[in-house]
Amino acid sequence: MKFKALKGVHDILPPETYIWQHMEVVAKEVFRTYGYKEIRLPIIEPTDIFIRSIGETTDIVEKEMYTFQDKGGRSVTLRPEGTAPFVRAFIEHNLYNEPSPQKYYYIGPMFRYERPQAGRQRQFYQIAVEVLGTDDVKVDAEVISMLSIFFKKIGVKDIEIEVTSIGCGRCRPEYKVALKNFLKDKLNIFCDDCKRRYDINPLRILDCKVKTCIDAREGSPSVIEFLCKDCKVHFNDVRYYLRLLGIEHIINPNLVRGLDYYTRTTFEVKSPLLGAQNAVAAGGRYGSLVEEFGGPPVSGIGFAVGIERVIPLIKGLPSIWGGPDIFLCSLGKEAEEKSLLLAEQLRGEGLWVELGYDKSSLRSQMRRADRIGAKNVIVVGEDELKKQRVIIKNMKDKNEVEAAFDVKAIIKTI
Ligand code: ATP
Ligand code: MG
Repeated sequence: MKFKALKGVHDILPPETYIWQHMEVVAKEVFRTYGYKEIRLPIIEPTDIFIRSIGETTDIVEKEMYTFQDKGGRSVTLRPEGTAPFVRAFIEHNLYNEPSPQKYYYIGPMFRYERPQAGRQRQFYQIAVEVLGTDDVKVDAEVISMLSIFFKKIGVKDIEIEVTSIGCGRCRPEYKVALKNFLKDKLNIFCDDCKRRYDINPLRILDCKVKTCIDAREGSPSVIEFLCKDCKVHFNDVRYYLRLLGIEHIINPNLVRGLDYYTRTTFEVKSPLLGAQNAVAAGGRYGSLVEEFGGPPVSGIGFAVGIERVIPLIKGLPSIWGGPDIFLCSLGKEAEEKSLLLAEQLRGEGLWVELGYDKSSLRSQMRRADRIGAKNVIVVGEDELKKQRVIIKNMKDKNEVEAAFDVKAIIKTI
């Protein structure tokens, strides 16, 4: 019988895994300089936390969740995103008692039952951050700046940062009315999903990816014109600090995002080098989510980077990818044992060392050394053991150098 991975679920193989590791290392290093700490969260959560936070009328909750009953009859869900589980943990462990602001990051898989296509998987990975406990607008700018520095450090230059404010519970209702008035007469042109969204969540129409809907909403009122005084000041301040930090950005008032919990600042990072699925990261401020989950009235802001969409933008493999430093070929039982011991000692010094196995011939050991890109080859045979000296062959320039059969001497020579 032949088994295959599920549709939209991928194995990530080397050498691509080196790029993943590289991305994670760079992210952790950048986040550390801003004081973010890692939090590891479960991938399975009670279903309710997503319904309550993401919103009942969003695509994610309506049709994309991997939800099932466990053997105890509880409804559980494979997390489609990380903010709701994070806020659940934040409250459960009283993390709000830590000095404010509290800054965390997490890396891991998310699950959404979407139509698989380029840039869209059913299991995909995110690198995400969350900052809680401050309304300071400088944090909004700093979070966006950190994201742009992350992209720079992993060598992704062609990105566009889009920003908007989607207002708050005070000003958004008025905008909703204006938007509905605008859409009212042309509702018949919209897709069935949008027709439904019109009554329950009209803002989501701005996020629809169907071409006829995109055309039909052309000229709709902009959320920015409807911001209340406080939200307007907040948004202007975000832009002021972004300019201060030299972060190029454009305003896209249609950036309503697919989740209900956002308030005020929302942003997306897009790459013109990708096709239809061009958002490589997205985020925003959530004003009341913590309180709605039974925590204190603190607001938060965060973003999530979609790892799979960033991978194709990274050119070449990081330098950690390459062949073993030394390949030890051995001939005869004693040589095999001595090589095994030597390999362990060299590895103890941090070198990547491979050996011949399965009593294979010298020729086939050499072939393997070549295929896996060994940088140096050492042949250990009777002669070498007798003289306690080895010849180190540099596989690149084919130079041969002699050294004592000794860890320190070998390391000094290669
Ligand atoms: P999109 O509009 O591209 O579907 P979204 O608004 O649903 O994105 P978010 O929930 O904000 O996305 O997730 C943040 C990031 O995670 C996205 O910008 C994207 O890079 C990535 N992402 C989201 N869904 C998927 C998916 N199904 N496959 C791969 N990456 C994804
Ligand atoms: Mg989506």
